[in-house]
Amino acid sequence: MSAAARPHDHVSPPAAPAAALPSPSRPAAALLRWFWRAVPTAAVVTALAGLALWGHFADWKMPKFSTLIGKQSETAEDWCQEHNVPEATCIECNVTLLPAAKDYGWCKQHGVFLCPLEHPDVAQLKATPVITQAMLDRASRALAVKPRAENNSLCRLHMRRVQFASTDAVDKAGVDIAVVQERPIVEAATANGEVVYDGNRMAHLSSRVGGTVWQVERQVGDRVRKGECLALVDASDVGKAKAELLQSIAQVRLKQATFDRVQKLADGTIPLRQLREADTALQEAKIRQQSAQQSLANLGLRVNAEDFAALDTTEIARRIHFLGLPDDVAKHLDINSTTSNLFPIRSPLDGVIIERHVVAGEVVDASTLLFGVADISQMWLTLNVREDDARYVAVGQPVLFRPNSSGDELEIRGAVAWISTSADDKTRTVKVRVELPNNDARLRANTFGTGRIVLREEPKAVVVPGEAVHWDGTCHVVFVRDKNYHNPDSPKFFHVRSVRPGVKEADSTEIIAGLLPGEVIASKNSVVLEAQLLKSNLGTGCGCADGH
Ligand SMILES: [Zn+2]
Ligand SMILES: [Zn+2]
Repeated sequence: MSAAARPHDHVSPPAAPAAALPSPSRPAAALLRWFWRAVPTAAVVTALAGLALWGHFADWKMPKFSTLIGKQSETAEDWCQEHNVPEATCIECNVTLLPAAKDYGWCKQHGVFLCPLEHPDVAQLKATPVITQAMLDRASRALAVKPRAENNSLCRLHMRRVQFASTDAVDKAGVDIAVVQERPIVEAATANGEVVYDGNRMAHLSSRVGGTVWQVERQVGDRVRKGECLALVDASDVGKAKAELLQSIAQVRLKQATFDRVQKLADGTIPLRQLREADTALQEAKIRQQSAQQSLANLGLRVNAEDFAALDTTEIARRIHFLGLPDDVAKHLDINSTTSNLFPIRSPLDGVIIERHVVAGEVVDASTLLFGVADISQMWLTLNVREDDARYVAVGQPVLFRPNSSGDELEIRGAVAWISTSADDKTRTVKVRVELPNNDARLRANTFGTGRIVLREEPKAVVVPGEAVHWDGTCHVVFVRDKNYHNPDSPKFFHVRSVRPGVKEADSTEIIAGLLPGEVIASKNSVVLEAQLLKSNLGTGCGCADGH
């Protein structure tokens, strides 16, 4: 390499001779430095590649597993490579050591092999358990609710056993055990929803007659009883109808008196025609009175003129003046200075005033909304249920609702009252209406929360930790510890049991069939057993001396 090849060296000519001397050695030193820096990295890369290659050919999991279960103490010849236990004690290779249990085969009803519900002797319990009708019913209920995960009826894993060299080997592998338990579970379809007023328990009130609001008696939020007066409307139609009734009552009295007088004289001194005329006039007056009475009834002001028979017209006028008004309102009003046009707006139900749209002096007609009243002792919850879940929902199913604002402590129980016949075209959800009791007024309209539609409540479901259940691509299995595990001379092994999983919760899984309460299963790190099972499953056969 010449100096001309490095033009930057010519920038400073006086320094050129000095720079020329180290120039051949400088790139070499840099190369050396780079080499020493790169060596550790290269070594790691090479080692990793080698390790990967070795792992590829030597089956990565096997040495690790062997180490865990204490292979170091054995020589290759007397070690069963296939099952990772000393060859002499390998129960899978030496069938005479521990003959396989009877193969009861496939249970079509429950979708598992060796079904303990029909063959309780397969259970790894000291005493053969008794299968009760309740246990069979429990499985039937679970299978009836919705389709469950299936097992392939050609799966053969259930005849296998996973053996360890010793109890220490189990501990070293970090395998924890759990006892199959019975505990309550709830299977539910979860959906978000909104609370609204019960549409069957609310009313929007308007005045039956047009007029001017004379007085407003109640405010938003007030609790009101059925029939309670909320406001008074000054309506001239009401005054006219009352006057009409008063006139008709007076007419009836007059015509009645005439008729009575004529009848007394009807002994030939007066013509019969006169009696008939008096009778006709009386009947006409009565019809008018009936009609006036009906007009008031149409406004909700009920009155019966017959009741006034013993009263004089002044007293009748006084009573009709404030007809329909509540006594506690009427007693404060002066009959001489107060209009007779007053018409009460009454609540049709017990409830709370949720809307008020009027003030005194406002002109209203029959189309003006004056008040909204709702009975809040029961509310509606509208849930948006996913289409997939909606097909399992039925009217009457219990619903557990938790308002978003309530934290975790409050869960209100209601029931499904209605299921929409259509799905929302945008969200693909189906509206489901739930009636929720609200006697303590904890629910508020237009608030949100989460509802669980209960498809099944099982007080005593068979439950295991979720990590205990494995799926190999064809069937679900759980590793059940042999019932003689703690006998000093017994081989330390787990049975491979096929199971039918049901509800999956956060960290537990329901077992519909395949396990019985009290059985001991591998839970934490049971994946070690699965790895061993699948590894030996992939092998061409047992590498033991007997050559099977
Ligand atoms: Zn073996
Ligand atoms: Zn069965």
